[in-house]
Amino acid sequence: MSEQDLVRDRCVVVTGGGNGIGRAIARKMAAQGARVVVGDLDSAAAERVAAEVGGVAVGGDVSTDEGVGRLLSAAAGRVDIFFANAGVGVGKGIDTPDADWHTAIEVNVLAHVRAARALIPDWLESGGGRFVVTASAAGLLTMLGSAPYSVSKHAAVAFAEWLSVTYGHRGITVQALCPQGVRTKMLDDSGEFRDLLSHDVALEPEQVAEVVWEALHDDRFLILPHPEVQRYYETRAGRTDAWL
Ligand code: ADP
Repeated sequence: MSEQDLVRDRCVVVTGGGNGIGRAIARKMAAQGARVVVGDLDSAAAERVAAEVGGVAVGGDVSTDEGVGRLLSAAAGRVDIFFANAGVGVGKGIDTPDADWHTAIEVNVLAHVRAARALIPDWLESGGGRFVVTASAAGLLTMLGSAPYSVSKHAAVAFAEWLSVTYGHRGITVQALCPQGVRTKMLDDSGEFRDLLSHDVALEPEQVAEVVWEALHDDRFLILPHPEVQRYYETRAGRTDAWL
């Protein structure tokens, strides 16, 4: 398949596409000729990005079946690539209330489960599709900072891996994007974590989108956008030490 054909005229859905990594992915996919559905809880942000990339905006909460349904309706038929990208950086330490734990699990894990449940039957019938979960380096290596964030992102990686081993041999490609310290609103809002980011490994969302684009050319499961994360993961995978 030529570079040009990878996403040209394909339907790509990006949840959390109104800001940060999702917006950069939406722009990259549109620039490569995809038809893009931009979903976001922040409807105005979704509208802005959709207008910019000539796509369709869908406001709504992707952690509900209704929100997922609206995204799939907007795709009008087939979804070729689903970027399960919406996420929240809620919660902090041991005193984090249950409500914040629930939000982290709902948005960072169950939203992906709901989307996959809606997509997979069609993909099994139609010969396949691609499901890319925006997890985090915090889904591979426990980081200081928010407990619900690290725990929910570990679960997001585990769910993506389960999808991959379960459906990978049936034409469904699943990938887990594990960036670290991307310069987005989430990093700005993270306070303690942002201040702990002592070494300069932060990436711009556009750099992450470039790595995502490269990863669409193959089926490797983990997408690690920063070489330092790659090295760290290779040498320390399986250990539970805090990273920072
Ligand atoms: P990052 O790009 O680093 O993951 P951002 O905070 O910049 O972080 O982007 C996350 C996006 O996900 C935001 O635009 C936010 O509105 C969106 N989002 C968060 N929760 C939901 C949700 N439940 N449904 C849809 N979009 C959501």
